[in-house]
Amino acid sequence: MTATPPGQPAIRDQLITHLQELELLTPKNFEAVSAPAAVVELQARHHGFDDLVQRAQLILADVAGRRGDIAEQGRVAKAVTLWAEQHGDDVLLARGHRLQAIFYRRLGDGAQALAHAVTGFQHAEHLPERLRCSQLITLALLLDLNGQYQEAERRFGEALLIAEKNDDPDQALTVINNMAFTAYENEDVGTANDLARQMRTIAADHGIRLDGLYLDTLARIAIMQERYADAEATLQPVLDDPEGPLLSEGDSLPECLLTLVEVYQGTGRPDLAGQTLDWAGEVCDQRGLAGIAARVHRARAEWYAGAGRFQEAYEEYRLFHARSEALHSAEREARAYAMQAVFEAEEARRESERFEALAYQDALTGLFNRRYADERLAAAVAAARRSGEPLSVAVIDADHFKRINDQLTHAAGDAVLRELGALLNRFVTGSEIAARLGGEEFLLLLPGVGVTAAQHRCETLVTMVRTTDWSPLTGTLPVTVSVGVATHVDGTVTPDTLIARADRSLYAAKHAGRDRVMAEATLAG
Ligand code: GH3
Ligand code: MG
Ligand code: MG
Repeated sequence: MTATPPGQPAIRDQLITHLQELELLTPKNFEAVSAPAAVVELQARHHGFDDLVQRAQLILADVAGRRGDIAEQGRVAKAVTLWAEQHGDDVLLARGHRLQAIFYRRLGDGAQALAHAVTGFQHAEHLPERLRCSQLITLALLLDLNGQYQEAERRFGEALLIAEKNDDPDQALTVINNMAFTAYENEDVGTANDLARQMRTIAADHGIRLDGLYLDTLARIAIMQERYADAEATLQPVLDDPEGPLLSEGDSLPECLLTLVEVYQGTGRPDLAGQTLDWAGEVCDQRGLAGIAARVHRARAEWYAGAGRFQEAYEEYRLFHARSEALHSAEREARAYAMQAVFEAEEARRESERFEALAYQDALTGLFNRRYADERLAAAVAAARRSGEPLSVAVIDADHFKRINDQLTHAAGDAVLRELGALLNRFVTGSEIAARLGGEEFLLLLPGVGVTAAQHRCETLVTMVRTTDWSPLTGTLPVTVSVGVATHVDGTVTPDTLIARADRSLYAAKHAGRDRVMAEATLAG
């Protein structure tokens, strides 16, 4: 533990109290804690309370994650946990592991998330009860996600006991809402109804207005039993005050609107359903909610299909697929980026083989990246000079790639790049290396391969790309590449001049009409 400077215990206690308040407020209103947490961080730094600085940083990282910056969340959570391990600080270990659990859950790695939730909970023994309760809730959610339903139920039960014992209706509602949503997903009508009743009772007893996400759970449970009038009445506060505080969470308004659409469809009111879909779509666009936007398109497609307008339904399905494709590719990139950020934080303290591998890998294609290519090229040039063996490099550039992005989507462009990467990966053998230099440009490093052989190899490659069936990715748009080859056959070349020569050949290949190989005509091999 960090020593307390003499004369300052009062300040320290004040800061701790303030931090606890902010930690508890975060799930309810994360925008409201951001500025105060930054102030506490500054004060803690000023007074030399390093542990409290870390704790404030965890709050800020939690907020960053809720705003969508998952990489920042993961990076800070990891760094703070390491600090806590070195200083044996249980509070920070508990909170740090919990935030890492949330991070991995957002990345879709449920097993890793559960491991952190368990470790976090093991350090939670001395936390104030309300914080321990939120650790339990996280643990229960992740047990549930990993299919350990009975364990999850037990932890939810414990969390509920703590909340009730502390007479904390807010936290009790959080627990019961999660339990109710799980019961809804498992189509367990009896349990869902029971929990829904409890939510209403707690809210009524304590004069709490249920917010959008809670109302949505209750409405879905009603719809599951075709109690459409109940569902509609439940969501009425959303219609009465769509800008109000009940809907402060970024996606709760469109979630509620999509549920309302189900009510209108289920009760034969397609006009209202259509208007509500328009509204939901607008809110998604305004708030940049890509995930729900895709579901709005799907609901709209079903709406058209219900009206017998199949052409329009088909168009909407296409939009739905395009948007969910784009989303998944963005998620994949965010995931790779976030992982990289986390391991960079770790590397600051200890070498990590996994990080080394990541640092040399291109996130999109999984090929080696430019950094690795540069290192290998320098080594290969040095080796070729020593041995007198030839060394060829080929620079590969996709033809008219902008067209693919412009006429299709950036996600389609990414998919083509991934496939090109896979093709290159299959193409190289032995000590050869394929790397992505950046954008739509790749490099082959071919040690021991002379001018003629290099040209033949690359012509095979160009043909393989041209004859691949790209139609699932690009429809009628062709995918071809141009290749520039340069070969080192005597003693004086540097890595830079070799690449520059390959670039000149590539330029010539583009000029000569693309979809072809150009090697240096002036050198014999
Ligand atoms: P050329 O045949 O002359 O090479 O034409 P081009 O359109 O391929 O060349 P240009 O350099 O004008 O455009 C390259 C495009 O590649 C522009 C850029 O938007 C796109 N691009 C670069 N990196 C990525 C990426 O990671 N993903 C996607 N989808 N597109 C990328
Ligand atoms: Mg290019
Ligand atoms: Mg190009």
